[in-house]
Amino acid sequence: MERLDRPTSALIARCAGAADAVACVNFARNHDVLLSMRGGAHNLLRGNAVCDDGLVVDFSRMKAIRVDAANRTARAEPGVKWIDFDREVQAFGLAMTSGTFSDTGISGLTLGGAIGWLGGMFGLVSDNVISFDVITADGELRRANEDENPELFWALRGGGGNFGVVTSFEYRLYPVGMLLAGLAIHPFERAREALRFYRDFSSNMPDELTTGFGFLTTPEGMPAVGIVVCYNGSLEEGEKVIRPVREFGPSIADHIQPMPYNAVQTMFDPLAPTGRNYYVKAPFLREIKDGAIEAMVTRFAEVPSPFTVIFIQQKSGAMARGEPDRTAFGHRADQYSAVVLSGWDDPNQSEANIAWTRQLGAEIEAFGSGGEYIDELGPADSEDRIRASFGVNYERLVELKNKYGPNNLLRHTQNLGRRT
Ligand SMILES: Cc1cc2nc3c(=O)[nH]c(=O)nc-3n(C[C@H](O)[C@H](O)[C@H](O)COP(=O)(O)OP(=O)(O)OC[C@H]3O[C@@H](n4cnc5c(N)ncnc54)[C@H](O)[C@@H]3O)c2cc1C
Repeated sequence: MERLDRPTSALIARCAGAADAVACVNFARNHDVLLSMRGGAHNLLRGNAVCDDGLVVDFSRMKAIRVDAANRTARAEPGVKWIDFDREVQAFGLAMTSGTFSDTGISGLTLGGAIGWLGGMFGLVSDNVISFDVITADGELRRANEDENPELFWALRGGGGNFGVVTSFEYRLYPVGMLLAGLAIHPFERAREALRFYRDFSSNMPDELTTGFGFLTTPEGMPAVGIVVCYNGSLEEGEKVIRPVREFGPSIADHIQPMPYNAVQTMFDPLAPTGRNYYVKAPFLREIKDGAIEAMVTRFAEVPSPFTVIFIQQKSGAMARGEPDRTAFGHRADQYSAVVLSGWDDPNQSEANIAWTRQLGAEIEAFGSGGEYIDELGPADSEDRIRASFGVNYERLVELKNKYGPNNLLRHTQNLGRRT
C-alpha cells in the first residue's frame, strides 16, 4: 500500500492478489475509511474509481487471463481491459460481446450489465458471466454463481459496484470469425432522414446484426452522422441484410467491410482518447421517437466541442429478451441506449460542455423509459436518479445491499441503500 503524494490524504493499494483486496476491505471497514475500486479506470472521468480521503483498491496490476479453449470459457482478473481480453480469446478463435471502446475495463463494464457489438446473439456481457470471486463488506471471499450465493450472483449482474469487490470474472465464450462491420457516413444535412431510416432499419433485425447511429464531427471539422453495423454470420448473408444501409447513400464514406473482432473493438477508439475531459449521459429508449430525433439534431447543430459524439447503441435481440428481473439489469425491454459522450480539451470549457450534455440528456430522456445506464452514475447522483435507473429491481437490490454490506462500505459507486 502506498501513500499518494498529493494533498488528498488518499491511499492507493496496488493489489497483487485477492488477499490484498481482502486486507483493504477489512482495513476500510475497521477504520471507517471510504473505499473505491479501480478496475480498468475507464470511469475515471466520473471519478468513481478514485476517492479523496479514502482507500483506492487498485487492480491495475491484476491482469491475468486464462482461456480454457476446450470448454470455451475464460477467467480474468479485475485489472484486465477489453483490448487485452479480446486479443487473448481471439487467439483461440473465440470472443464474447464486450463494449465499444477497447480501453474500457472488464470490471466496471461487466458489473453494470454491458452492451456490446455481439449482444444481439449473445446478450449482455453480464449474461455471460459463469461465476465471480467477490469479497463482501464483511471481508469474506465468496464464489457467486448459479449454485453458490445465487442472490449475490443475481445482484452482481447489473448491480454495479455495490455488492462486493470482485477479484475474478469467469466468462462463457463463443467461436467468432470475420464480421461484416463498419460505419457509413452521411452529411449532417441528412441527419433527420438518416435517423428515421435507421429507426425503421434497426427495428426488425436478425440477432446476428447489432447496429448503432452516431453524430460526430469529421477530422475536417464537418458535422456528420453515421450508421454502424456489426454482422456476426456468413459474409454473404450479412451483405444481404445490410444492403439497405449501403443503398441509403450517397454516403460521404462507406467503411463497412469484413474485419476481425479485434478491429471492430478498436474502430471507435480514436473518438475517445485518454487525457481529454469527458462527461456522459446515457438514457435508455424503448423506441426512437420523433421528439428525440428533433432534440438530437437541433442540439448537435450547436454542439460546443468537435470531440463530442452522440451514439445511439442498439440493445436488441438476446440483450432485450426475458423479464426485467432476469438479472439485476432492469432495462431489458429498451431497444436503445442514447449515449451523449461529450469530450473537450480546455478545462475552462467544462461548464459549457457539461451544461450542454445535461440539457440534451434530459431532452432525450423525456422520450425514454426513465433513468439511464447505471455505468454513467456515481455517488453524487441522487437516490431518485439511482432508483429510476435501476428500475423495477431497485427494492430487491437495496435489500441485498443491506444483507451483504449493511454498513454501506461500498458507497463510492452508484450508491444503493443510502437511506439505511
Ligand atoms: C467512451 C466510453 C465508452 C463506453 N462504452 C460502453 C459500451 O460500449 N458498453 C457499455 O456497456 N458501457 C460503456 N461505457 C461505460 C463503461 O461500462 C463504464 O465506464 C465502466 O464502468 C468502465 O469500467 P472500468 O473497469 O474501466 O471502470 P473503473 O473506472 O475502473 O470502475 C468504475 C466502477 O466500477 C466498479 N468496479 C470497478 N472494478 C470493480 C471491482 N473489481 N469490483 C467491484 N466493483 C468494481 C466501481 O463501482 C467503480 O467505481 C463507456 C464509457 C465511456 C466513457
